[in-house]
Formats: sequence, C-alpha cells, structure tokens
Amino acid sequence: MEMERMIDKYFRPGRLPHIWCPGCGNGIVTGAIVKAIDKLGLEQDNVAVVSGIGCSSRASGYLDFNTVHSAHGRALPVATGIKLAEPRLKVVVITGDGDATAIGGNHFIHAARRNIDLTVVLYNNNIYGMTGGQYSPLTPTNSKATTAYYGTVDIPFDVTELARGAGATFVARATTFHTQILVDIIAQGILHEGFSIIEAVTACPISFGRHNKMGSAANMMKWQRDHGLMLAAYDKLTDEQKADKFPVGVLYKTRAPEYTAEYDKVIAKARKGEK
Ligand code: SF4
Ligand code: MG
Repeated sequence: MEMERMIDKYFRPGRLPHIWCPGCGNGIVTGAIVKAIDKLGLEQDNVAVVSGIGCSSRASGYLDFNTVHSAHGRALPVATGIKLAEPRLKVVVITGDGDATAIGGNHFIHAARRNIDLTVVLYNNNIYGMTGGQYSPLTPTNSKATTAYYGTVDIPFDVTELARGAGATFVARATTFHTQILVDIIAQGILHEGFSIIEAVTACPISFGRHNKMGSAANMMKWQRDHGLMLAAYDKLTDEQKADKFPVGVLYKTRAPEYTAEYDKVIAKARKGEK
C-alpha cells in the first residue's frame, strides 16, 4: 500500500502533526510497525497498541488501533491485562530504552519470563529524549548526557541478551537504516506465539547526537549502517572486530508454552471443578 493511503488508514489525522524533532528516527520505527501490520493483513480492531511514557511512547496516540498511552514503565502490565482479557488481540507494546529498562525493568523481565504473547518494539535511542537527555541503562559507556557532563561510567545492558536470559522466545534487532529488515522482524514477532522483543536502534539527533558530536540525523543513520551487521556476517568477526559492532536480524527464536494459553487451561479446570 502507498504510504499516503497507509497514513489515511492507520493514523489518526486529528492527532497529527507529531511532536518528534526533525531527523528523529521514531517516525521510521512507527512506520515499520504499521507496514508490518499491513503486510500481515491484520484488522485494526484486532490489534492493540500499548505504550509507556517518553518520545517513542507518543506513537500510540497517532495510531488508529485499540490504543493505550499508559504510565511510565507500565506498558507491559497494561498489555498483559489486555492480552489476558482478550487473547484474540495482537498486542504490540511501544516503549523506549528508559521506559523499558529503568523504571519498567522489572516488568520487562517478568513479562519475558512468563512468555506471554506480546510484541515489544523497543525504540532504543540510547537516552531519555523527552525529559531532556538524561542517560539510560542503554546509553553506551563514556557517552555524554545532561546527567553525565564528563561522560558515563555505567556499563549498559545488551537488551537482547537481557530478554533472552529472562525467557523471551523471540529476540531480534534492526535499525532505522535497516528498514526492510525492521518491518520483517516486527511482522515475525507479531506472528510468533510468545514474548517477542524487537530492539529498534533509532537516532535521537537532539538529546543524544548533539551531546555526543554524532553530526546530523543522516550521519547517525550512517553510523547505524556501519555498526549494525547482519547476524551471519557478525558471527564471522573476531572478538576484537565485534567490539564496536552489533548483530542485526533474528537473534534467537524458540518455542515454549505461552502464558495465556496455559492460563486458559487453568480456567477450563476451574470451570469443571477439577484440582
Ligand atoms: Fe526524537 Fe530525540 Fe527529539 Fe525525542 S528528543 S523527539 S527522541 S529527536
Ligand atoms: Mg530513549
């Protein structure tokens, strides 16, 4: 479908224009979610989009599905409630690095542990953009931030490894440069029956790029092109060569009992009075 028709169909024109800064990658990631849903031919009424708080989480307001713009770090508990109440819905969670891995970190690991069928798209711009450029648990060490004027000393999570360790059954990553792959892995994540996490590496030229002298938004996308390698190519690198690179694509996929399906069995037993 052409982009113009897609905007008419999947966005709420009354809520536009969006608040994102010129050059922000959030529109590319949001566009990729819409393209993935369109590619799968899902009915809008059968999709719920839940977000937390932050620049990326504004996306839920722009999109014409069943949407909730929830509280900071709390998108996953809200999405969990929706999925348990209406398991037929495809539930997509939009969150950021600060939202999902700092205040929402506990919810993140427990949703992954339960293997509940949610698709999390984590917009990783390495910073708290909306609140003014504080560093997050995904900000690389030695980065400048408004709360780290001389550079951060914290070691960041690799959120894909965190998710995998916590029990996620579909783990993938792409960037706003690798857009076709991003669309494809979001679609795969939506189809996967279990907890899916897609890390979308995106540029915040204002709150991260400016402090870290990364140049224009276009330069930040070139950085994504030069540092994100397809998994097969990444795996061939030596450890030294891997140091400043990251893999792109489906990084891990397995099957495990899905939470709402297991919970349905409990409901069936309870209805029959079985113990
Ligand atoms: Fe995008 Fe950064 Fe601006 Fe937020 S502050 S809208 S993430 S460029
Ligand atoms: Mg962020």
